[in-house]
Parts: sequence; C-alpha cells; structure tokens
Amino acid sequence: MLSLYLHIPFCKQKCAYCAFYSAPGSCAEKERYTEALCASIRAAGSRETRPLSTLYCGGGTPALLGTERLSRVLEQARRAFSFDRRPECTVELNPESTTPALLAALREAGVNRLSLGVQSLQEEELRSLRRPHDAASALAALELIFRSGFTNVSADVMFGLPGQTAASFADTLDRLLAYPITHLSAYSLQLEPGTPLAATALPMEEEQEEQLWLLLCRRAAEKGMTHYEISNFALPGFESRHNLAYWRRTDYIGLGSAAHSFLRSVRYAFPDDREEFIRHPWPLCNPQPIGAAEAREEAIMLGLRTAEGVPLRLLPAQFQPERYRDFAFIQKDRLILNERGFYLTNSIISDILSKEY
Ligand code: SF4
Repeated sequence: MLSLYLHIPFCKQKCAYCAFYSAPGSCAEKERYTEALCASIRAAGSRETRPLSTLYCGGGTPALLGTERLSRVLEQARRAFSFDRRPECTVELNPESTTPALLAALREAGVNRLSLGVQSLQEEELRSLRRPHDAASALAALELIFRSGFTNVSADVMFGLPGQTAASFADTLDRLLAYPITHLSAYSLQLEPGTPLAATALPMEEEQEEQLWLLLCRRAAEKGMTHYEISNFALPGFESRHNLAYWRRTDYIGLGSAAHSFLRSVRYAFPDDREEFIRHPWPLCNPQPIGAAEAREEAIMLGLRTAEGVPLRLLPAQFQPERYRDFAFIQKDRLILNERGFYLTNSIISDILSKEY
C-alpha cells in the first residue's frame, strides 16, 4: 500500500493556536510553488511502480492556491502515479474558501472525500481562535459541499477552548452532526509555545476537559460512529484510509515544504521553508533510517492510538496486562485501549515503554 500527501502551506491569516508551517503568499509565489510541487510529483511518480491507495492534499489551506493551480497539482498526481481500483482522494477545506466553483473542480479532479475545518460553531470561540470564518460560513460550506454531491465528508472540531462549556460544545456537536457527515476529527486545544493563544489563554481544567471528551464520545456514538483512533470517529466503512496508513506505518510519500515521507523504513522531511522547497523540490531530504528498536516503539505508540491496538508480541518482556485492566483489554493477541485508556494514551504509552515498572 502506498499513500501520497501533498502540502499547500498558504493561509489567509494565522489562527491564534497554530504552530504549523503556513503563511499568506503572493500570486507569483503560489505559481512558483505549484510548479515546484508538480515537478516533485513527477519525480516521485517516475520512481514508483506501486499504485496509490490514498491521496491527501492538506495544509495550510489548499484552496488558497487557487482553483486552477490546485486542479493542476491534482491532475499532475493523476498523471504521474497509477491508482488502485478505489483510491481515497481527500482535500482539506476551510469554510471561507469553499465555493461552488472549487467544489466542482475538485469533483472533476477525482476528489471523493473532503475534510472541513469547522473547529466550533460558537462565534466567541471562533473569535478567540482567530479563525478566518464564522459559524454561518461553516454551515454554508457544509450546505454547499452536500449540494455539490460529495458524500464522504469529515469535519474537524476542537475542545478545551477558552470560554467553552459543556453546553456550547454540545450545541456545536449537535448542529454539526445534524449534517450527514461520515467522519469527525476532534482535537483538544494545545497551547503551543510561541503562538498568540499560548500567551493569553490558560489550559482548561483537566476535569472539565474530560467532561467535554466524554460528551464528544457519547454524541459520536449516538450518531453511529465508531471511535477508531483517539481523535477520530467514523461511520462504519468511512475511517480515513490515509490516516490509517500513518498509524499502520505503511509507506507514504509527502511532497511540499514541511512534508514528511516514510518509505521502506526510512523517514524523510522537507524543511519548513517554501523557498527552499521551490529551489529543491526533489529528492526527498533529511533521510532518517528507522532501526528495529525504534520501529517497535513507533508501532506501539501508533498502534495504541487506534482501535486496532498493538500485537502483544511487540510489547516489552516485562509488560504486565493486569496493570492496565481499567484502561485496556486483550483481543486476538492484541492490546487495545478502551475509552478511558484513549483519554490517557500518552501516559499509558510512556508507562509501557518505560523500563522501570
Ligand atoms: S487554517 Fe489551519 S494551517 Fe492555517 S493558520 Fe489556521 S490552523 Fe494553521
């Protein structure tokens, strides 16, 4: 299985919590970036015989490249790679740049899955995050998306936001889940050092955040979604195949500034620098071979994030299952975290990997 990730590092403005590599860009810069990305896609495609199972175009805000340039990039991927019979092709969208013309062009380019960054449907919360859209434009984007014929649609929401309450989060979830979305990604706010929000906001009390998390799990379950990864819920059959590839550690190629690849047990990363990528769109750079011990740790860390869990044979010899009986269960020789365990995944992983218990 092979996946392709294409990174578009342009954003209209910087959200207050965002530590990703993205910034506004001029038309000329977007054109040069598009040409570099197409060259990178051609070079990668000419070295691969394996068909792509998934393609994911994320950012940043891919739509800000402009509809024609984005179509050109997707078309280049179609020409440079072969695809398997039912590829999953996703593009990330933000509400304020979702237009009928863009959606028509994406369908034309073979995109069959969209991921919309909603984050919240409360005006105050959106303002505190400095999102470039309001609740009405998020709902209008959803209307447009479903009217355009897309049926596999994911939405992103956030919890642990300044001023957020159980009532406001429930209202966001209820209004969002009233749409026929197939997938929900939910992330707790991380106050990343150096971001404007980290300078002004305090982290939510743990107990309050846990209440929001339980509310999220309940609402998603009521909608018929399974909790297949810590932060992701999907109707059966609509799990993100692209993200599953990351968690299962199958090969993927990431092209664009700040994009990462994992190919034949070697990780690569393009620098967080658009101009550098424009100058050197190929080859993949900064190779970092992953040895057996590191591969095992990665498999434990990534596997425990998902409802597939991790094979018992990968766990350290001193692993004691009874230590985790409130947080995990064993099924078909795999250790799988339960809902409580998912909430504490990071501590459980470091506990399992620590050599001291
Ligand atoms: S739209 Fe996404 S990538 Fe862009 S600034 Fe906001 S959070 Fe960051």
